[in-house]
Amino acid sequence: MVVSSATRLIHHYIDGAAVEEPGARFGEVYDPARGVVQARVALAGAPTVDRAVRAAAAAFPGWRDTPLGKRSELLFAFRELLRANAQRFAAIVSSEHGKIVTDAAGEVARALEVVDYACALTQMTKGEFSESVSRNVDTYSIRQPLGVCAGITPFNFPMMVPAWMFAIAIACGNAFVLKPSERDPSAANLIAELWTQAGLPKGVFNVVHGDKAAVDAILTHPGVAAVSFVGSTPIAKYVYATAAANGKRVQALGGAKNHLVVMPDADMDAAADALVSAAYGSAGQRCMAISASVTVGNAHETLLPKIRERIAKLKVGPGEDAGNDMGPVVTDAARKRIVDYIAQGERAGAKLIEDGRTLRVRGCDDGFWVGPTLFDEVKPGMSIYTDEIFGPVLVNVRAQSLDEALALVNENAYGNGTSIFTRDGGAAHKFQREAQAGMVGVNVPIPVPVGYYSFGGWKASLFGDLHVYGEDGFRFYTRGKVVTARWDESAAGVNLGFPTHK
Ligand code: NAD
Repeated sequence: MVVSSATRLIHHYIDGAAVEEPGARFGEVYDPARGVVQARVALAGAPTVDRAVRAAAAAFPGWRDTPLGKRSELLFAFRELLRANAQRFAAIVSSEHGKIVTDAAGEVARALEVVDYACALTQMTKGEFSESVSRNVDTYSIRQPLGVCAGITPFNFPMMVPAWMFAIAIACGNAFVLKPSERDPSAANLIAELWTQAGLPKGVFNVVHGDKAAVDAILTHPGVAAVSFVGSTPIAKYVYATAAANGKRVQALGGAKNHLVVMPDADMDAAADALVSAAYGSAGQRCMAISASVTVGNAHETLLPKIRERIAKLKVGPGEDAGNDMGPVVTDAARKRIVDYIAQGERAGAKLIEDGRTLRVRGCDDGFWVGPTLFDEVKPGMSIYTDEIFGPVLVNVRAQSLDEALALVNENAYGNGTSIFTRDGGAAHKFQREAQAGMVGVNVPIPVPVGYYSFGGWKASLFGDLHVYGEDGFRFYTRGKVVTARWDESAAGVNLGFPTHK
């Protein structure tokens, strides 16, 4: 690939300004619809990470001590700037990720939802107070920020996933270092510029771009108190183990294979709409995409033809055209991996009823295209069923009963989200009770919780205990302290017994 020397360079953002790293390595940022390099991004080494962490550590005490009302005012100002720049963000995300600009606008709206919630910081950081726990003794709890928190984020939501982290971390009084995906890094720099415009003291929010070298420098840096990670399961496991071994608080969200169960009594049009939207939206590159459907009884007979009708009407093309439904996948490597999985599915004997490998997009011959793909009669041992493909490939498994469908959901290694489509309240209730997943939908395809609940999976979809944003977010980015205080002047006398409160 020839890269012109005039190609735009994307630098780190540290201590309130863009920062160039001497002798930096650079990564290529593609226009996935055309398969060409549109920018080059600096890849940080340990010295740059150290510079960002030091800037954050220096900014932390001032920000921690900033009165809550002032912090909240600043968050509101930032929120208004995000809102005013929503279209700009959508265009940036779409051009580097490839998703359709309207889909990217949805991502920005969901990011804003979390920022809105972070504006409730004055409520969320309140502690508790108990008067007279012993004679003249009061006890109260307080929640304090951790210090420097780091976020390491995936390519598929370059705007929303960072917001899950930094909005709450900063609201709680922490300083933050973001290491976004090197595949679509530009949104992070615009976020940093808007924080500066909103008046956030320099050093409270920093961006270091990079790959494994930057991640490792963060995970082992003694100045980093906590790490939030979102990405694939193998890296999530690695991040969890390495950050924990280095004494950090850590939450690491991993991959997914989300199942949607369709009961024979379901509204089949609604189920087909939901499956097509959730399987092929963002070209299947969502952690909450539905990548496996489970049809119970004879549901497949009505459902699959309806899915095929809808696939036939999907318009696939470049993300900047809002008239398109689905864009390319993010890189050529991703395209090759997905195409290889489709071949594996065929070889394993699954029935390929829509084949996205043949798709061509006029005028964009070098883009990273895979069309909507549908398999039926998929069996649990096949790689297209067990693995996260992270592309526009929906695999259908047939089950005889709700119990069998639930067993499939629960035997799966991942436990991010799962949904059921049914008109039977008893079936829905059993499903939501017994499904081993962190987020469950009933007649809803992508059950991503609103900003004031928390987002997170079970099993191989999350390492750590606290989920992101919502109340869990506030707990993750603060630590508790309990104070027991006496202010009377009477001497109680020496007593070597263990103190009780009677
Ligand atoms: P990824 O794991 O390749 O990358 C995530 C981050 O880790 C990036 O910042 C990347 O630079 C870094 N990284 C990559 N390889 C590394 C290595 N060897 N050592 C250290 N750091 C490394 O994930 P991705 O391809 O960017 O994103 C897609 C994945 O993210 C999918 O598996 C998807 O399910 C998952 N995801 C999960 C959620 C969730 O909430 N559970 C949300 C979004 C995406």
